[in-house]
Order: sequence, then C-alpha cells, then structure tokens
Amino acid sequence: QFPFGRRLPCDIYWHGVSFHDSNIFSGQVNKFPGMTETVRKITLSRAMRTMRDLFPLEYNFYPRSWILPEELPLFVAEVRTMKDSNPSWKPTFIVKPDGGCQGDGIYLIKDPSDIRLTGSIQSRPAVVQEYICKPLLVDKLKFDIRLYVLLGLLKSLEPLEIYIAKDGLSRFCTEPYQEPTLKNLHQVFMHLTNYSLNIHSGNFIHSASANTGSKRTFSSILCRLSSRGADVKKLWSDIISLVIKTIIALTPELKVYYQSDIPAGKPGPTCFQILGFDILLMKDLKPVLLEVNANPSMRIEHEQELSPGVFENVPSPVDEKVKVAVIRDTLRLMDPQKKKRKDTQLAHPALAQAEVSPWQGQDELSGPSAQADPCVVLFCRCQSPERAPGASEELPDAAPGPEAALPSLCLKQVFPKYARHFSYLRLVDRVAALFIRFLGVKGTTKLGPTGFRTFIRNCKLSNSNFSMAAVDILYIDITRRWNSMGIDHKESGMCLQAFVEAFFCLAQKKYKALPLHKQVLSLIELCECRLAALHGKRLVWGCG
Ligand code: ADP
Repeated sequence: QFPFGRRLPCDIYWHGVSFHDSNIFSGQVNKFPGMTETVRKITLSRAMRTMRDLFPLEYNFYPRSWILPEELPLFVAEVRTMKDSNPSWKPTFIVKPDGGCQGDGIYLIKDPSDIRLTGSIQSRPAVVQEYICKPLLVDKLKFDIRLYVLLGLLKSLEPLEIYIAKDGLSRFCTEPYQEPTLKNLHQVFMHLTNYSLNIHSGNFIHSASANTGSKRTFSSILCRLSSRGADVKKLWSDIISLVIKTIIALTPELKVYYQSDIPAGKPGPTCFQILGFDILLMKDLKPVLLEVNANPSMRIEHEQELSPGVFENVPSPVDEKVKVAVIRDTLRLMDPQKKKRKDTQLAHPALAQAEVSPWQGQDELSGPSAQADPCVVLFCRCQSPERAPGASEELPDAAPGPEAALPSLCLKQVFPKYARHFSYLRLVDRVAALFIRFLGVKGTTKLGPTGFRTFIRNCKLSNSNFSMAAVDILYIDITRRWNSMGIDHKESGMCLQAFVEAFFCLAQKKYKALPLHKQVLSLIELCECRLAALHGKRLVWGCG
C-alpha cells in the first residue's frame, strides 16, 4: 500500500474501487477504465436491449427493461398492448434506481401507474423491469447466485479472455416465498435476496456449513439439484453462455473507455477485473441475469451482535471458501513470471503444442467449435503444474514451482475457448471498432460531426438518396436526443450508443428486406471492405 504516493512501477496494481491512476505505464491493473459506468443498471439495460434487438432468442436471459423517466410513456404503452393481447397476464415489475446497490431504493409494482414519480425518480433515473415471479425455491425460499468472473488480461481487450469461478455464493431470502400480490409486494425479506437487507431479519441464519443457512455455496445447491435429478450440466452450460453473451454486450462500450484512457501505441498497463454476476434461477432452471457488479464485495467475515449494540467481526467460512480461491487464482493467472513464460512459448509455439489442456474432454458446450484451440492450450499449460504425457523437458518452467503445493485452479477459462460458438454475436463490437477509428482525437469517447462525416465519406455511404445534408441532420437528431438523456455531460458529441443507433438506421435504409442482424452485418462488411480498399490505395500512393 502506498498511502503517500508511489515512486517505483509495480507488476500488479490492486485498486480498491475503480481504475483511477493515470500514472501507470506498465504492469497489470485490476480494474478496467469505465467498467463501473458500463455495468450501471441503465447502461447494462441499454446494451442488453441493443443485443436483444439483433438477436432476440440469444438475449432472452435478461428481463425486459425500460429506462425511467425517459421511457415511461413507452413502458405504459407496451404494458397496455401486452395486457390487451393477453388479458390473463398479471405482471409484476421491479423498479431499481440507477447506480443503486444492496437493494437500495428498490420496490415492486403491479401497474405502471404505481411508479413513484415524486422525489427520487425525478432526481434519480431508474430501470423498471419485469419481475421474475416464479423463481426456483430451495427450502421454500427465494435465492440468487453470485458468480465471480475474471475478465481481460490482454491489451485492448483483444483477444478477450473470460474465466468463471467454479463455485459461487447462494444468497437466501429470510421469509418463505409467495408469488407477488398487492399484500406482500413490500415484503423485502420475501422478494429481495440481498445479503445486506436480509442480515437485518430475525430469521437470518449464519452457518459455518456450506449447505445450510442464509448464505451457502452454489456447489451445495448444485448437489441438491443433482440429487433431485436436475440436469446440472445443462445448467452450467446455460450459465457459461449467459456470462459470455453478457460480456460480449459490454465490451464495445469498454473498448471506447479503454482507448480513451490507454491510447493504442502508447505505453500503458494491461487490465483485468473480477466481476460479480448476480443470477436468478427460474423454476425451470433457466438462469436470468439480474446485474453485473464491477466491485463485488470480497469480505470474508461478517458482523455479529454479541450483546445489544456490541458488534464483532467473525470469520465467514462460506465466503472464505469461495472468495479466497477467486483472489488466489486471479493472482496466479496474473503472475508476471508466468506471463514472461507465456510470451516465450508464443515465440516457440511448437513447444507449447506438446501440452494437453486439463479441461480437454470436459467441454460443457457441445459442437465442433468447442474443442480447445492452441491459445487455450497455451494458457492451460501455464496454469497447471501437472505435465501431460510426453511434454517436453526443455520447457522453460520444467522445474516444479511453488504452485505445485496449491489447489487446482477454481477459475475456468471459457473464452476464447468457446469463441467460435459466439463470434457471430460480436456485431456491435465491429461497429464500435468503426466508431473508435473515426474518433480522431486521442482521449475522447465521443464522435464530432466531422468524424461522422468522414466515416460516411470514407465508407461511401452517401449518394443521391442520402445527401451529406441528410447525414448532418441524422447526426444532429440522434446526438441531441442521446445527450438530452445521457448521464455523461462532460463531453459533447456522439456517444457510442448514439452511433450504434445511427448505424442501425443506415443499415435498415440500405438493406430493407433483411432481418436487422443481417442488415447490420451487411453494412459492417461493406464499411470494412471499403475502408480496407481505401487503406490499400493510400499505401500504394504512399509508395508511389
Ligand atoms: P442491487 O444492486 O440494489 O442489489 P439488484 O438488481 O441486484 O439490485 O436487485 C436486488 C434484488 O432484487 C436481487 O438480488 C433479486 O433478489 C431481486 N430482483 C432484482 N431484479 C429482479 C427481477 N427482475 N425479478 C425478480 N427478482 C429480482
């Protein structure tokens, strides 16, 4: 710790809350710039909606959401239409303030007219979301799952690396669950699984055992489900898909922040981050994403009231079991010595090919593309002290290191391991790459009118039906609307989401008959192709 400042560079920087040190030029930082903003409830809901517009079936794991106050009329209208078409539909909604945590300010409603328009909502934007009325219950109680996900490692988030911890926490409500009615809507101990709320219930049970009490390990729930005959393998596979798809939805925005804080071509650190995924299981075992935490609690003790008003911190074995493993293995994967060895292997790929992934043959996602690709094998080789039969003696770390004494890794790589299953979903990523290319000024996150015009001109998207004057109007219309509802007023110009909207608009205009994802893909390919041709021409002119 450097309470008075730091003079020498470090291998690993561990920041408490967010990426905040602009004086880091090397090493690895445990936070991504912009992660906190990217996973806020409103930003996450927007990113999920964009992906759901493109891929409705693939992104149906996030509850339908509306942003308040700007989408209140839309919310009212859509609920009315859905009720008209299905009169037996009796929905419940959950209102969650943006940027809130620990259940703060959350309430349930039965009708859009119950939204509290006075006070907090005007000053504090929020998300209103379909409430999952039929969650899976254990011991008659609602619970959610906190899973830890490690993201990153390499510069500029490419190639993306995602690891999921093999165990997580299950946090229980403290009142038996009943489907929401007007009478029980306000009963937080029945409907909200937050530990920080339920700890204040007289029914909260602290337990040293992993499979009893109000906080248990996720693996204990899986054991229980498995003994009831549930398909636990399929559940894990669904959870892995949910995590990968969510990260795919978040990376475009993250890349914009990343290039702004750590511009390409300049010395800078690489980043990694432990995220907390909050997941609810429905009765039919379908996992639903509730939210992503950029700064999940890593506390391994809890407060106990010894006598009225006298508290003491006591160890929590369940937290310790899960969280210590996550931090330990994050540091193992970050070990700068290992990174060096990995670089050596990248320089001598033949050496690495001799190794076998400890996960080979245990693919959770079936299909031909689920086979480990060489780069996964490389990484597994670094992680595991075990030697595969026939592994070369000449490998640089042939001597057993201090790791030999450590338990096997709890963090399991799922990306790029399953990259080929999901690469077709990465359309917004490619739109973001175009956006970043035309940002121009280093350190910015918004596109100016000149940048937008250059994008249109270089990609040859303007013609007699779509004049440059129409281009300017499109820019002004969309930018103005996004800036009027945006949270970030620091910079003027077009933000990534506004550019994505403009891009979709152009794609719809150009390829009318196709479904949206095909329209967008066609326009991306056209732009990439025209930019490549332009780049080629410039190179030729340069040589000439
Ligand atoms: P916070 O950041 O304040 O904890 P969450 O989005 O995690 O906000 O919501 C708090 C709790 O409310 C969750 O842990 C879960 O128990 C419940 N909850 C949130 N969204 C839903 C939903 N769509 N359906 C059912 N329960 C929900």
